[in-house]
Amino acid sequence: MKITSVKAVYPSYKNVAPSWRTHFWQIIVKVETDIGLEGYGYGGGGRASVEVVNKHFSEILCKKEINDTRDIAAIWDQLYQECLPYGRKGIAIMALSGIDLALWDLVAKSEKSPVYKLIGTRSKQGVRTYATGTDIEWYADSGFTAHKFPHRWNDKSDYQKAINSAEKARSTLGEKALIMIDTYMSWNQDVTLEMAKILSPYNIHWFEDVLTPDDLVGQANIRTKVKPTLIAGGEHEFTHYGFMELARSAALDIWQPDITWCGGITAGLRIIEIAKTFGIPVIPHRGGEVWGLHLIVSSDCQDLAEVLPGTKGAPKDELWAGEPQAENGYIEPNDRPGFGVTINESLLS
Ligand SMILES: [Mg+2]
Repeated sequence: MKITSVKAVYPSYKNVAPSWRTHFWQIIVKVETDIGLEGYGYGGGGRASVEVVNKHFSEILCKKEINDTRDIAAIWDQLYQECLPYGRKGIAIMALSGIDLALWDLVAKSEKSPVYKLIGTRSKQGVRTYATGTDIEWYADSGFTAHKFPHRWNDKSDYQKAINSAEKARSTLGEKALIMIDTYMSWNQDVTLEMAKILSPYNIHWFEDVLTPDDLVGQANIRTKVKPTLIAGGEHEFTHYGFMELARSAALDIWQPDITWCGGITAGLRIIEIAKTFGIPVIPHRGGEVWGLHLIVSSDCQDLAEVLPGTKGAPKDELWAGEPQAENGYIEPNDRPGFGVTINESLLS
């Protein structure tokens, strides 16, 4: 089939989460073909990324032949080269991610197959989920056995706040639950070491994004000092080239590429290959969304997927219809062709 149109749209979101977790400026990419099949992808980078797709990538892609996943990989490499002067990381790669995912959706639909079958042999059925957010009682009631809460450092009073949050999470979810903390780059090395000490009774599985993604030396340094707690990160890193630098610097115990930002499934597969070589577990950021979930079930990712349920009863935009939901703490992709979701057109105008 031949690509006839590539178009990105920034959705008209109605309900933005009232926290530092927003819509991440996610965009929609739609690819059309001469046989009437359409593929949809999800990317990052907001309106700037929409411009990259519509004003640059689309003209390269129109009239291109695409039939299998090798074609997708070739297109990935070409687009990476074409945007290299302004790309490599950030917005351009978030735009490329949206296109890559739309092409995986398209090729899978052309084969009447779910994307996970195109990726490889399915090795996981229901994937264990962890709930990121603050409504712990609701998560416990819903059957989650793993949970990550946000913590932001402002001053010394935040040590006690971290203890209170960890205490609440542990007592609500029980001794066996996995408990993690996402600091969103607000800690430093000293804070991290002190936190490891005072939070040790709560057996925190990982600290996420403790330092900025540029401070690889700092992360490599604290990583060895906070065990058994692990240092996780990678949602702000891009492509297999970026993750190769992470590997060389030994900065992280766990990699968390965001499949809608790091370069899509094509980049995700290359990142997983590197991770395998270096023995690093991969747990994609927001892995409970279809873009990460299809990759998780058919690759060497860990058996753990992040979901963001928000708070009980809070209104949410249903951008993708047919998205799998976590049930009793587990989630799995459906068997419909492509990623198995359809776009909610009412959010596109
Ligand atoms: Mg995070």
